[in-house]
Amino acid sequence: MLINRKATMAVRCPWCGNIRINKVDPFSISGGDGITAKCMCGQDLFTLKKRQAGGYQLNISCIACDYEHIYRLGYRELWKSDLFILNCHYTNMEVCFLGSETNVKQAVDRYEREMEEIIKELGIEEFLEDEDLWSDSFTRFLDSVEKVNYNKELGKNIVDLIARGPKHSK
Ligand SMILES: [Zn+2]
Ligand SMILES: [Zn+2]
Repeated sequence: MLINRKATMAVRCPWCGNIRINKVDPFSISGGDGITAKCMCGQDLFTLKKRQAGGYQLNISCIACDYEHIYRLGYRELWKSDLFILNCHYTNMEVCFLGSETNVKQAVDRYEREMEEIIKELGIEEFLEDEDLWSDSFTRFLDSVEKVNYNKELGKNIVDLIARGPKHSK
């Protein structure tokens, strides 16, 4: 089977919070060690390599739970998907978007808008602008996200669910 395109991968850096969009091509990961993508801040974002048993292995340092997740990807998922989303095993937060450039960028835009809404709802905007308070605020933010399960089929807005959470708790 011929692979005729690059896959676009978007991952949010757990160290600096930026979303990095990377392109990977089949040839760069054909070697044993595969590729390691780095963020602008110098930290490793993910490693993608071929598995001997077939398919690919993707290691991502997760922004949501601080663990490294290992995903097994098939040939189709990596090279033929329009959009394939990988979630954190523990929080279910979306940690990686992969697929065609257009679809991945759209998904990242949607994700960013949702995050902004959540941050506004939680009232932690000002903290996120302060470097020192950033990680504390982000931890609080993630604690809230953790309780949310984004339901794609219903197209439910996760913001509504989160916003309601704290008000009803006693
Ligand atoms: Zn970074
Ligand atoms: Zn995780």
